[in-house]
Amino acid sequence: MYKIINSKYIWCPINGILKDHSILIKSNKIHRIDQYKNLNILKYKKINLKNSILMPGLVNSHIHLELNWVKKKLKYSSEFTDWLSQIIDLKKVLSRNKLIKESIKQAIEECSSCGVTTIGEIASYNGLDISIIKKSGLRCSYFYEIANSNSLNFEKNILKIEKKINKNSMIELKVFPHSIYSLDTITWKKCKKFSTKNKLSICTHLSESREEIKFIKGKKNKFDNMIFKKLKNAPKVKRKSTFTPLKYLKGLGVVNKDLTLVHMNNLSNEDKSIIKKNHLKIVLCPRSNLFLNEKLPDLKFFLNYHSTGLGTDGLSSNDDLNFINEMSFLYLNSKKLKVKNLKEKILSISTIGGAKCLGLDKKIGSIEINKRADLIAFEIKDQNPFDSIIFREGKNISFKMIDGKIKKFQ
Ligand SMILES: [Zn+2]
Repeated sequence: MYKIINSKYIWCPINGILKDHSILIKSNKIHRIDQYKNLNILKYKKINLKNSILMPGLVNSHIHLELNWVKKKLKYSSEFTDWLSQIIDLKKVLSRNKLIKESIKQAIEECSSCGVTTIGEIASYNGLDISIIKKSGLRCSYFYEIANSNSLNFEKNILKIEKKINKNSMIELKVFPHSIYSLDTITWKKCKKFSTKNKLSICTHLSESREEIKFIKGKKNKFDNMIFKKLKNAPKVKRKSTFTPLKYLKGLGVVNKDLTLVHMNNLSNEDKSIIKKNHLKIVLCPRSNLFLNEKLPDLKFFLNYHSTGLGTDGLSSNDDLNFINEMSFLYLNSKKLKVKNLKEKILSISTIGGAKCLGLDKKIGSIEINKRADLIAFEIKDQNPFDSIIFREGKNISFKMIDGKIKKFQ
């Protein structure tokens, strides 16, 4: 029931770096953090990580496990709407349960092998992935994705998913209206009503492309001229020249401190004020933005913001699902901004920041008493131990524990 973990360094976003300290785990929780000499007199099982740096498990706050199979079929595209159009076509023709289940397994494997202990999974196939996620042992915020195509009876379907999850303490259900351009305004209002009634928080893709901005302002755009021509029901969306995607959502009454927004790489100054004022949670997927030839988010703003998380997005808009590669990409693109303690900021975004975005920060994201024991360690191979976390693609992971259970120890 009790285990002591010894590591050369322990890092957490709350306490910073500790040397010669140990952690006492009781069942699935962190019970005590103390100096090595004070804990090691206790006669419990000891895990000696030696030359390693131990930290909270990584949180990949935005991923579509089911989209791995799309990767091989996609043709190079230079525009967001062209990419989206290809995905709509591929999903129509090739979505098969076996293919999708295989995708989910591969994605989980890639995700887990680089130190991720929690995922924010966006799921659109009525719970096909739940048994695979349960088996993986990963912690999961499970976002049920809604678009116009599956919006009929979405309330009933979400409640069916809840049954499938069956009060598993590792999986929490949430609502994910896909975007502002894929749902009728009236469906967005229904989502809001449903999530309030059932106390399920909302997350959505927002301000991801230049076309989305034109769309919500009622300007000529490729959603109307290209994407909607492929759909049975083109979404009926209220637009205004003064809207930004975020101002549109604000008008629907969706904007509150429980709202999480993914991407946000096309923002006005007014949007930034709305984010700060309402304490919104923001997940960045920078490699996905560049993959789709869109601009990067305002990194200076988000690196200094209190509730920023990081995600790989799906393999349909990234080269791999290695979360450490996402961290190093964020680091390299932020270096010139001269942000103080940048490496630690990236680590915070990847742990407690992600936990906040998934509404799990009371349980995970830092090493504090009574939090769940989701921990990983990296063998130190560089002079600066943070370099051994951010720049080695996760190949030097020496230990992994989720919910008090050891998943890796070498
Ligand atoms: Zn996404």
